[in-house]
Amino acid sequence: MISTKIQDAINAQINAELWSAYLYLSMGMHFESEGNAGIANWFRIQFKEEQAHAEIFINYLISRGGRVILKPIEAVPTTWESPLAAYVATLEHEQKVTALINNLYALAEEEHDYATRGKLDWFVAEQVEEEETAQALIDRLKLIGDNGLALYMLDQELASRVYNVPSPLAAKA
Ligand code: MG
Repeated sequence: MISTKIQDAINAQINAELWSAYLYLSMGMHFESEGNAGIANWFRIQFKEEQAHAEIFINYLISRGGRVILKPIEAVPTTWESPLAAYVATLEHEQKVTALINNLYALAEEEHDYATRGKLDWFVAEQVEEEETAQALIDRLKLIGDNGLALYMLDQELASRVYNVPSPLAAKA
């Protein structure tokens, strides 16, 4: 059985992951309407990954005999000035998520809940990757500046991103 404190914190994390999914879906829809189909694809896959993150926490809470409580998902922004602005917002958001995961990790230690702490290891590593990827795209977009051909090439590249089921979910299937 899981403590109420950890259960509440995981439910809050499920909400945060679903908000992330909603944010990236909104970014995807924005870039669809801007004609950047590759960037839109990248964000739509990001949306699926965030849904998967929520599902990993959902499955975990159920496996520990906890109760999943789905709370309202707050509204997300709907427009961004440029691809660079969207990736800067992505990095800032992922840095916040990293802090949430770290807080959850600290709580698990405080509560001597080592199963939860262990489950969080995958998320700690995932956050390093999320921040690194967003930063790399920011760097490239800064180099691209207002070069339309370079942006077109990046868009083509991002169009080839495919969704891979994250390993903690794949192992469940
Ligand atoms: Mg996430």
